[in-house]
Amino acid sequence: MLQIRDLNVSYGSIHAVRGLSLQVGAGEVVTLIGSNGAGKSTTVNAICGTISSQGSIQYNGKELNGRSTHDIVKDGIVMVPEGRKVFPKLSVVQNLLMGAFSRKASKAELTQDIDFVFGLFPRLAERKSQFAGTMSGGEQQMLAIGRALMAKPKLLILDEPSMGLAPIVVKDIFETIRIIKKQGLTTLLIEQNASMALSVADRGYVMEHGEIRFHDTAHNLRTQDNVKKAYLGH
Ligand code: ATP
Repeated sequence: MLQIRDLNVSYGSIHAVRGLSLQVGAGEVVTLIGSNGAGKSTTVNAICGTISSQGSIQYNGKELNGRSTHDIVKDGIVMVPEGRKVFPKLSVVQNLLMGAFSRKASKAELTQDIDFVFGLFPRLAERKSQFAGTMSGGEQQMLAIGRALMAKPKLLILDEPSMGLAPIVVKDIFETIRIIKKQGLTTLLIEQNASMALSVADRGYVMEHGEIRFHDTAHNLRTQDNVKKAYLGH
């Protein structure tokens, strides 16, 4: 579904992504893991067209590189950005509706889709009229994922959904990713929390200093000594 070949991104003299190649097949959950500054967010921004890059980014055989973010979203690639970025002055329901903005959906469909999100995140249902800006970090993360799902993505990209959240909330978020996965949604999961990411993903890529160091099935990466030592803390 997504095929990136020899991607390069520079910020002035900083060569942030170096010859990265990565694939995500239909229905797969693929994780891109790596520590701070490895170049993960830069890779995501290149896919979504928010920064310019060199190399090929094909989506169902169509070249994305050079196209506008708006076009890319219309094709079904939806990203949940690092740090959530919900609309603070809008309510939960209004935020969810913003997610469906680029679709032509009837009121009945929208109600059904909101109910689906509320089914995934009952906490959001309890707070449907609350301003997003007054919710906890975990609730905002749930809302950001819910808003992305309202766009009916074909490829969902989650940029560090666990960032800044308490372990118990992280567990909840990953449980939801598992449920979404069961429904067959193709997902690219960017994470620093390698152990959580590899517990849900089918395959993983380990990024260091702008390059992919290893890639393998999540199972093999979890049991590989150098990955265990550097990323899994044992
Ligand atoms: P984190 O997990 O901390 O977000 P990351 O793996 O997502 O890290 P990036 O944010 O992609 O890493 O950053 C990769 C490198 O590019 C870093 O050295 C960073 O300082 C640099 N960088 C990122 N954005 C910019 C920018 N707008 N201008 C200059 N350098 C940047």
